[in-house]
Amino acid sequence: MSMRKIIVFSLSLTLLLLLVSLLKPDKAGFNENLTSETTSIVDSAGKVTIPNDNDEKDYRIKKVVIDAGHGGHDTGCHSNEGVEKKNTLAMALKLGQKIKDNYPNIEIIYTRETDKFIELHRRAEIANKAKADLFISIHCNSTDENSGISGTETYVLGMHKKETNFEVARRENASILLESDYKEQYEGFDPNSTEAYIIFSLFQNAYLDKSILFAKYVEESFRSNAGRRSLGVKQAGFLVLKETAMPSVLIETGFLNHSREGEFISSASGQATIAESIFLAFQKYKTAVETREATPLIDPVTEGVVFKIQLATASKDLSQTPRWKSMSNLEVVKDGTIFKYFKTGFDTYNEASQELKRLRANGFSDAFIVAYKNGKRVNLEEVKK
Ligand SMILES: [Zn+2]
Repeated sequence: MSMRKIIVFSLSLTLLLLLVSLLKPDKAGFNENLTSETTSIVDSAGKVTIPNDNDEKDYRIKKVVIDAGHGGHDTGCHSNEGVEKKNTLAMALKLGQKIKDNYPNIEIIYTRETDKFIELHRRAEIANKAKADLFISIHCNSTDENSGISGTETYVLGMHKKETNFEVARRENASILLESDYKEQYEGFDPNSTEAYIIFSLFQNAYLDKSILFAKYVEESFRSNAGRRSLGVKQAGFLVLKETAMPSVLIETGFLNHSREGEFISSASGQATIAESIFLAFQKYKTAVETREATPLIDPVTEGVVFKIQLATASKDLSQTPRWKSMSNLEVVKDGTIFKYFKTGFDTYNEASQELKRLRANGFSDAFIVAYKNGKRVNLEEVKK
């Protein structure tokens, strides 16, 4: 090997190692962490500040793009309960109608109003050409295996921090594989390659803070207006959000492969409830950005709180032994000289207490619930509801 080749080789290796280190998930905190650390609109206490970054003095929301996910030969996910492309269209049209009825001066632009295939880049292009003020992409969720998970999640653009978030982006971005010239159109982006997502960790989105604000209002509205289980605001590399030059979110309205939820999001009344919840979030967002006096998030105390069940303590890390290995969502934390065993993954106290009952009946008689916020243990009594 010539010296020149060696130099090129070592440079590529360094670059590769850098990329790999960037790809490693950040494990800080227990909650869904958003990477936005710039001019965060919502602080940890739930206080909302709207930055004065609009050119216009009397800024008003004039155009909203509503994007019904999938369509035509791209059906999206499906189950016995329903088909994603049908559900998203029904919800998009209902949401648009709701906004029109209440704000006749706001122009609603749909990326599709019928069952037809629209490329992802075209969806963003429609919004950019219109110089829209907000882009709302509506989808249905699904998991490969029957995990029994249910709930809503609203995504803003960014690098995923959890494998499950990556899976959602991967699945939604895979729509481009149904486009005829996707290789040219997306500069060789391979939706199934983990490495392809590295671009999202470097991406600075000027509209991220507003996107997060709207996303939070959406999730809050699902929870408080529709009694839905909210899985929170999340970040992942969605191509459709990357291309839009305005605040933009992608809403996963529920899991089609969860029988009860799948039925709900496939029913006309469920779709109306979802449209209504998104509309109420839109109203709050509109007021916030137009008056720069944002309505605080309803529940700053419980916002971002996660629950765990402490199962046991031991003097050793036994997580690789058969008894513990089979336990899902197990977390072992070393605290001084002892190891604490937690079952994690509960967003509400209710969920945790249901699981606690089951665990107690199955031999974990001393198990109890603990609550964490931003990685710190908090008083359970203050946050349980
Ligand atoms: Zn979808």
